[in-house]
Amino acid sequence: MKILVLNSGSSSLKFQLFKKADLSVLASGLIEQIGDAKSAAQLSFFDSSGVEQELKQNAPVVDHREAIKVMADMLRASGTLVDTEELAGIGHRVVHGGESFHQPVRIDENVISAIEELIPLAPLHNPANLMGIRVTMEHVGPTPQVAVFDTAFHQSIPEHAYLYALPYSLYEKKKVRRYGFHGTSHAYVARQAALYLDRPVEELNIITLHLGNGASAAAIRGGKCIDTSMGMTPLEGLVMGTRSGDLDPAILFYLSRESGLDIDALDTLLNKESGLKGICGENDMRTISQAAEQGDHQAKLALTIFCYRLRKYIGAYMAALGGVDCIVFTGGIGENSAIVRQLSCQGMERLGLCLDGKKNSIRQKEILEIQAGDSQVSLLVIPTDEEHEIASQTLQVIDEMNVS
Ligand code: ADP
Repeated sequence: MKILVLNSGSSSLKFQLFKKADLSVLASGLIEQIGDAKSAAQLSFFDSSGVEQELKQNAPVVDHREAIKVMADMLRASGTLVDTEELAGIGHRVVHGGESFHQPVRIDENVISAIEELIPLAPLHNPANLMGIRVTMEHVGPTPQVAVFDTAFHQSIPEHAYLYALPYSLYEKKKVRRYGFHGTSHAYVARQAALYLDRPVEELNIITLHLGNGASAAAIRGGKCIDTSMGMTPLEGLVMGTRSGDLDPAILFYLSRESGLDIDALDTLLNKESGLKGICGENDMRTISQAAEQGDHQAKLALTIFCYRLRKYIGAYMAALGGVDCIVFTGGIGENSAIVRQLSCQGMERLGLCLDGKKNSIRQKEILEIQAGDSQVSLLVIPTDEEHEIASQTLQVIDEMNVS
């Protein structure tokens, strides 16, 4: 039997097919620019001899309904999924589970309504996730479908950390609070860290740093998240590719009054034109690091601001946790940028955090340990695998269903 994982975005559909027995990957695919004449679909898979193969299709994919059909056709053509009856379950990534979902759940009409009700909190993401859920439900009938929420891992954050210092009625009436995102990734790498260190997760204080285009930090005590840097939306916290992260909210009043920017313009400014891009005009960390190395002042500044904010969060979470055993770097930047790891740990030796420059420069796909011999804190680079985590949580829900 097999498990299919779907990540349905507003204009893309990512999917991965796993063998249920050991959660090894059988196929993974991406359909991009859905609804555009340039849409393209690709699938990589392992054939019956275990050799990696690729399938491509460039015909326009008009909507998500067609995308699901293209996915099914490609999986069938690859021989990895000939009949939907081979599926033990389907796991869907859902961005916002609000306060309703602390863990993955089997999808039924009530769950769909709850995800729908949460659309105001995630107007871009939840509708796209729902589209994927609805279309697959029509296609595969009784196969169990499971929703895995980006926010669920952060539901253990205590009240004093998730509430903003705003009138309490805004929380009661409008659910204004910190929710946090990237939960699937934080949960996955924290568990991998405990496995790698060969220590029970219950004994560990871990700080996980998911650094991709979006970036967030999480403070994890005994396997449970106690704080995270993203807030009610993914805009808060660390400096990101195009998002500002933390800033003085009064800047918005100032810009509105002085420059006449309306709410939509401010939204675009903070979400799409700020962060690394705002500072140096570029949001790709590879390009920025190269330019910084060649002496470009703005690129250097962007890199320094990014890492300084990160260092402040590491310090804050060391305080929140009362000490840390392990810090994990993950995501495209966390896994690949030695300079970001170096700058964000710089000057923290007195806090027990010492990076080994030589180990830090090694590039490998497996978990990499980068602390110096005298470091009190383990520093790990762990490749994230959100699809694997969704498959594993989907399997857990299916197993629990079969027991009860
Ligand atoms: P997303 O949030 O879109 O999933 P990723 O986790 O793929 O993003 O991370 C994208 C970021 O990772 C980009 O800023 C990219 O420049 C950066 N990145 C990828 N490879 C490297 C590398 N070798 N060195 C530095 N940064 C890298």
